[in-house]
Amino acid sequence: MTENKELKIVMLGTGCPRPEISRSGPAQVVFVDELPILVDCGEGTTDQLMKAGIAPEEVNHLWFTHLHSDHTFGYAQFLLGGWELGRRELTVVGPKGTKKFHDNLLAMYDEDISYRLSAGRPQEGLLNVKIIEIEKPGLVESSLPVRVTAEEMVHSILTYAFRFEVDSKAIVISGDTAPTDSLVKLAQGADILVHDCCLVANSTYYPNHQDPEKRDLWNRISQTHCTPSQAGDTARLAGVKTLVLTHLFPKIDVNAVQKEAEETFTGTVIVPDDLQAISVEKKEKQSIK
Ligand SMILES: [Zn+2]
Ligand SMILES: [Zn+2]
Repeated sequence: MTENKELKIVMLGTGCPRPEISRSGPAQVVFVDELPILVDCGEGTTDQLMKAGIAPEEVNHLWFTHLHSDHTFGYAQFLLGGWELGRRELTVVGPKGTKKFHDNLLAMYDEDISYRLSAGRPQEGLLNVKIIEIEKPGLVESSLPVRVTAEEMVHSILTYAFRFEVDSKAIVISGDTAPTDSLVKLAQGADILVHDCCLVANSTYYPNHQDPEKRDLWNRISQTHCTPSQAGDTARLAGVKTLVLTHLFPKIDVNAVQKEAEETFTGTVIVPDDLQAISVEKKEKQSIK
């Protein structure tokens, strides 16, 4: 009756397509009480899970925001490694193309998988992975004890942001996106908004740069990603409590990113390190005590 689930997120990988030793590829885990839901699976995800004390074989749900390489590089190891460790059930949810991506991976490792199966390992958890492709924005049907809503973002391929909501607590993950009203709508009143922040604050990449290469890079990336101040705008318009910036460039000036976001958003801004956990505050504290 008084059941009130806890909601938190662990930032496994806060990096971007450019490799960096201190930031793993994009990935995070949403916890509904003890249940882990992996969102994206960038390079190093399995290592990061273990560093965070989360057994990869106990992660039975993976949601892909989109299928760009930086968000999927860790899938082979997560799939096969987690199976080796004993995972026998896995559901993968993602945009159209997720099934093809998964099947291609199995085909690529066909011989390896045949060998492992011939050595007596069960095929459950590997050959019977349940793949759900999101048909359209809106509520996504799933067996999870949390309501998940998807909205289409503005990126170079089909990308969904997700809102995980339970007991009037909500965590929203933007995936990769340029500024869009769809995210403002999806993130309304959320406790935590994890937001793409791929453009460096006060950057050498900003427009009007003398170097045409850097100007071009800005023009390209700014069509598909956000600056800290744009992320702050979305957080403000959506009225979220905490903005968490991710998808960070190597050697980024964390303080400058934080400062720039705080110029457009007066709530809490977090520029996390890998493995940082952020919990949604318990709401009964405010109302009961
Ligand atoms: Zn992307
Ligand atoms: Zn990305």
